[in-house]
Amino acid sequence: MTHQAWVAQCIELALDNARQGQAPFAALVVQDDRRVGTGVNDVKATQDVAGHAEIRALQAAARHLGTRRLAGCVLYTSCEPCPMCLGAIFWSGITQVYYGLSVAEQAAFDELPAFQYAELCRAAHERRVQLVQATPDNLDPRDPFNPSRSAGA
Ligand SMILES: [Zn+2]
Repeated sequence: MTHQAWVAQCIELALDNARQGQAPFAALVVQDDRRVGTGVNDVKATQDVAGHAEIRALQAAARHLGTRRLAGCVLYTSCEPCPMCLGAIFWSGITQVYYGLSVAEQAAFDELPAFQYAELCRAAHERRVQLVQATPDNLDPRDPFNPSRSAGA
């Protein structure tokens, strides 16, 4: 199938999801021209902010293939991924993503993804969400990376 045909499937799934009262997004993970994961946005149904279509498709593909490492797979999605989903795509190892609607085009319906990408371009101290390091005096936050060598082991 062509990239456009896979994206068309995403748009059809997104349309169906919207008709069911959910947010209008869908995504597929494809390996060797076979669908191995399907996801639709279920944020409203689950009240889970991470319930984006791309996340659900990655989760389904990982379950289907028995691995979270999806390098070599391709992700297709109805809209360009938001920063959260792009982060999950990085974690999966997927390096090819094809989408229907760009973030810039999506801003006509929802400005949040474009805002989030703009925020990531700002210096940390200029962002709306403040990330502040608060290291305890009596615990080393590096310990969980090497639990056998930590002082409490
Ligand atoms: Zn997303």
